[in-house]
Amino acid sequence: MTTNRGRKDVIRDRMAGTGESYNVAARNLKAMKDMGATREAVLTQRWRPADSLDVPCPCGGTCEPGERCARCHAPHRHVARYPGSTTEVETWVDRYECLGCPASYTLTVVLPGRPWGVAETVVQGGAAEPVVRARVFPGVAHPLLRQEEPYGD
Ligand SMILES: [Zn+2]
Ligand SMILES: [Zn+2]
Repeated sequence: MTTNRGRKDVIRDRMAGTGESYNVAARNLKAMKDMGATREAVLTQRWRPADSLDVPCPCGGTCEPGERCARCHAPHRHVARYPGSTTEVETWVDRYECLGCPASYTLTVVLPGRPWGVAETVVQGGAAEPVVRARVFPGVAHPLLRQEEPYGD
């Protein structure tokens, strides 16, 4: 299976570089992927909407206050956040739902220092133009991109 061979190659590369055993190298690679920026990104996305507008929004105060509904005049509440671009890794979309009726809307926000993934410039083919491709951090749900597979599993 090609996917298995790809994963083993990555682990063998690390073994060659660090002198670690296969199992240790595999475990360390996984740990590296799970740390740091990944944790931040998951925290940026995973929170439960506030029960009341009297408390600060659990998203971390990085959203705009919800607008008042044009239909029923109740306020909107911030209910969800997800990546809002396939290449701009600091662009997110905030979703708001009205507290009084089924109305909802979304707002695009840029959160500097809170990326949902890593943008890489890759050259595809020989003479092709470099393109920006984003990798989504593990644990982040992207509506348009697939999450990076753990080394092809
Ligand atoms: Zn919020
Ligand atoms: Zn409403």
